[in-house]
Amino acid sequence: MTSSPHSHADAGLRVAFLASGSRGNTLAVCSADDVVLVDAGLSARETRRRLAEAAIDESRIRAILLTHEHSDHVAGVRVLAKQLDVPVLATEGTINGSRHLAAVAVMERVRPDCDFTIGGLRIRAFRTSHDAMEPVGYVFEDARGVRFGLASDTGHVPAEALEVLESCTIVGLEANHDVGMLRTGSYPRFLKERILSRTGHLSNDDAASVLERLIAGGVSSVCALHLSEQNNSPQIVRRTLGCCVDRLGADIEVMIASQHTTVICSA
Ligand SMILES: [Zn+2]
Ligand SMILES: [Zn+2]
Repeated sequence: MTSSPHSHADAGLRVAFLASGSRGNTLAVCSADDVVLVDAGLSARETRRRLAEAAIDESRIRAILLTHEHSDHVAGVRVLAKQLDVPVLATEGTINGSRHLAAVAVMERVRPDCDFTIGGLRIRAFRTSHDAMEPVGYVFEDARGVRFGLASDTGHVPAEALEVLESCTIVGLEANHDVGMLRTGSYPRFLKERILSRTGHLSNDDAASVLERLIAGGVSSVCALHLSEQNNSPQIVRRTLGCCVDRLGADIEVMIASQHTTVICSA
């Protein structure tokens, strides 16, 4: 179900995809009383502008979690954490992998596959497959047991990650590129190979295979993430994922996150 940015806490679990793509990634997971941000790839100023626009109360933000150390995920984190006065949580590899994190005031370590709680959200990190030091995705569970799972920047979705994602009602899933567009496009060969590799980015076709499993698991909203501006388009993603939804006769919502505007899913 989609909700307007102005529906409030009683809406249950709400996920605001504030920005997604190679020029900056940030999202906000909102439960009744608590908000956790994931990644901080935009400037602090722009992040706060988008939070305000999505009617997310900054005083409810408890922490910033990081998926990995690439700058499109961490460039704004030091300033944002300072301004919001919240801790930053990341895996040890991520913490050691970025100069952006060296000056963060309160840095806490996340261990993959171990549950922890922030306010009313139970959270678990799971391993993804990406050319970073120790990349992870996350699953969030609210007090009602409703789950949101995030899997982006991953060359494939490992079996353990898929298992976690199958239990989620809302999923943010990478759909980075159309393989044909990438292969015939203008990127240098090394970059094409990097993106296509098992530790690169998830293609539309691979996202569709994952979506099939999510539908079997009972997902209700899926938001496609990290679309390449050169090697993909929202129309192609919609068509590829839409085919899968139609073939299975599923009644789910497919949304597409954007670099420029906020997209909201709720359950
Ligand atoms: Zn990225
Ligand atoms: Zn990355």
